[in-house]
Amino acid sequence: MNYHRYYPVDVVNGEGTRCTLFVAGCVHQCRGCYNKSTWPIDSGFPFTQELEDRIIMDLQDTEIKRQGLSLSGGDPLHPNNVPAILKLVKRVKTECDNKDIWLWTGYKLNELTAKQQAVVPYIDVLIDGKFIQELADAKLVWRGSSNQIIHRFRLHN
Ligand code: SF4
Repeated sequence: MNYHRYYPVDVVNGEGTRCTLFVAGCVHQCRGCYNKSTWPIDSGFPFTQELEDRIIMDLQDTEIKRQGLSLSGGDPLHPNNVPAILKLVKRVKTECDNKDIWLWTGYKLNELTAKQQAVVPYIDVLIDGKFIQELADAKLVWRGSSNQIIHRFRLHN
């Protein structure tokens, strides 16, 4: 997997203070996409073991307390990204106490393949669906267009 940006302290991509990772690779080609540079699967930089370890350490940090991890892109559920994302979310849920995981994907939840679905049990909040420019609304929170659905699988406590 490649990634474009990692923000160790982020307050705009999900609730609370978070770590946020923007991965490379997206097949959806939404008109009006805000992040076209992330489309090629080989764009950006390699997501290394060091960066994975860094994210876990940042989430364990007690000086700057983060509510959780946000995964965006690009598309974290691009088939090429699924193995690395699955490894990362499993580590977060086993090594980081009470952290939530938010994930944005252009796929619809009910259209995920079995391999993509394997990530879902580790996700607390999943925002799905392509960005549709005709349905865009700046007043929407955590999503760009009204067709996208915020699935809250678990409430953070
Ligand atoms: S799913 Fe997101 S990153 Fe992919 S083309 Fe659509 S808006 Fe852009």
